Amino acid sequence: MIMRMSSLFVRTLREDPADAEVPSHKLLVRAGYIRRAAPGIYTWLPLGLKVLRKIEDIIREEMNAIGAQELSFPALLPREPYEATNRWTEYGDGIFRLQDRKGADYLLGPTHEEMFTLVVKDLYSSYKDLPLSIYQIQTKYRDEARPRAGLLRGREFVMKDSYSFDVDDAGLENSYQAHRNAYIRIFDRLGFEYVIVEAMSGAMGGSKSEEFLATATVGEDTYVRCSLCDYAANVEAVHSPPIAAVPYDDAPAAHAEQTPDTPTIDTLVDHLNEKFARDDRPWTAADTLKNVLFTVKHPDGTVEALAVGLPGDREVDDKRLEAHLGEGVEFAPFGDDDFKSRPTLAKGYIGPGALGEKKPAGVRYLVDPRVVEGTRWVTGADTPGSHVIDLVAGRDFSADGIIEVAEVRDGDPCPRGDGGVLESARGIEMGHIFQLGRKYADALDLKVLDENGKLVTVTMGSYGVGPSRAVAAIAEGTHDELGLAWPREVAPADVHIVAAGKDEAIFAAAERVAHELDKQGIEVLYDDRAGKISPGVKFKDAELIGVPTIVVVGKGLAEGTIEVKDRASGTSEQVPADHVVDHVVRVVRA
Ligand code: ATP
Ligand code: MG
Repeated sequence: MIMRMSSLFVRTLREDPADAEVPSHKLLVRAGYIRRAAPGIYTWLPLGLKVLRKIEDIIREEMNAIGAQELSFPALLPREPYEATNRWTEYGDGIFRLQDRKGADYLLGPTHEEMFTLVVKDLYSSYKDLPLSIYQIQTKYRDEARPRAGLLRGREFVMKDSYSFDVDDAGLENSYQAHRNAYIRIFDRLGFEYVIVEAMSGAMGGSKSEEFLATATVGEDTYVRCSLCDYAANVEAVHSPPIAAVPYDDAPAAHAEQTPDTPTIDTLVDHLNEKFARDDRPWTAADTLKNVLFTVKHPDGTVEALAVGLPGDREVDDKRLEAHLGEGVEFAPFGDDDFKSRPTLAKGYIGPGALGEKKPAGVRYLVDPRVVEGTRWVTGADTPGSHVIDLVAGRDFSADGIIEVAEVRDGDPCPRGDGGVLESARGIEMGHIFQLGRKYADALDLKVLDENGKLVTVTMGSYGVGPSRAVAAIAEGTHDELGLAWPREVAPADVHIVAAGKDEAIFAAAERVAHELDKQGIEVLYDDRAGKISPGVKFKDAELIGVPTIVVVGKGLAEGTIEVKDRASGTSEQVPADHVVDHVVRVVRA
């Protein structure tokens, strides 16, 4: 079927929408692909829906190719299964909750682990039924704190989520690899640049996890790559390389010193160099142990105080802290009232002496992994105007645990210890695969009989990719200053034919080309608008809409030629009118 601009339900706009920050959002609205219905909620217009469906179809084909079977769950879900896994609470404000007329609680599904687990439990009971992979392509709802950038972070969005079910870990590893390979094929076909990075498993629990990120400066995810090896990881998941304990037999005893007016690391380092100069080198911020305090509120309402101890030359990275604390956990830096209620804490001079779950202040104390046994630190002496020097970890203090939330910097060593250094870049999370393990099967009691007739808990994987986010991410990665420029596999049409001129002959020729291409199975968008719409306006629209091949039937027709343009590169050639259909078919099928 030929799409005709004269009747297509589309209005292109010359002005950027006022609420759009990133190019993909501006262009998708201007080119008539989507309209905003509410913050983070969009209506798909015909062109947009075409692109979305093509992306979904690519995903569907590759999922089917690994033997995964499609089904579809409701979006409106009962509370009980989410209660059983504690996610009704853990999600906090992140989900939409509602009640029916009888007062029963429901939610709009943010992701469907519970429902998939339960349906398998309903129907299967033997190892002979496994392995199994099932998936859906379905609308999800999350009340995102910061819906932004149009489709990139919506509150209603489309997700393909699949889940694998296996009897043992080796089976899970196989299912995971099959999905990983399918994702590689999907992203290769979608036609944009991406990287696969190690990821945190976040609130989902479980172990191994990787993300597929579209490389994009507007991305919200920061990832790092090693300058030498193939290590790549989301910043939230980066671990520092293991550090060996340092011998400390010769270390002097810790000594408290007067350091008046040194509440910040800079003032402290200056003071140390002035009053306690070292023989070997000057003191630096990395010699100091900084303790940063937070109030942490868990989804069940409990509140705790947390101190993070880290080298003074680094800050706590909020995103890393958020990822480590988990979904629905809120945190804020200590305020005046928090200090007031804990008189043993001397603001600006807090040290390990006052920190720890068992100390009077009752602050859980977690330290950066660089604080290994035997390392020597300058840190607060827990009295205003005083610091301790030569405080040795493992000898003079110990923490309640380790936490990896210090900022990661360009130039930090690669965790694989190969001598390479980390470099950072930004990306958009497009897909996420992970080995859930038995978390959901345990919570919902999904067991099957194994070969020996013994009941075993099933192990699961979960694999998500966002087709609606992909629409925006692909637009983001492929647009230029003129408009959208779709990769062929996802474009709303194969060719955009422009009838440029007023003559009957031009319209007749354009119409003929459109029909012949359509007959050959080529998807045609035909700008057949007559009357006051000038060729200039039509060209601008074609560039904005971004179909990969533009065919201009215009002035050249008098000399028997038709122009065929490549939208992305801007190159064009004059093709004899008689050959134009064959030529375009070849270009499209290349
Ligand atoms: P993010 O870290 O960006 O919030 P997430 O980790 O919450 O994403 P998952 O739960 O792993 O995402 O969801 C799987 C996929 O669903 C993501 O990789 C992404 O493509 C898509 N997705 C998640 N949240 C949104 C959203 N708010 N809008 C559009 N797509 C989304
Ligand atoms: Mg994720």
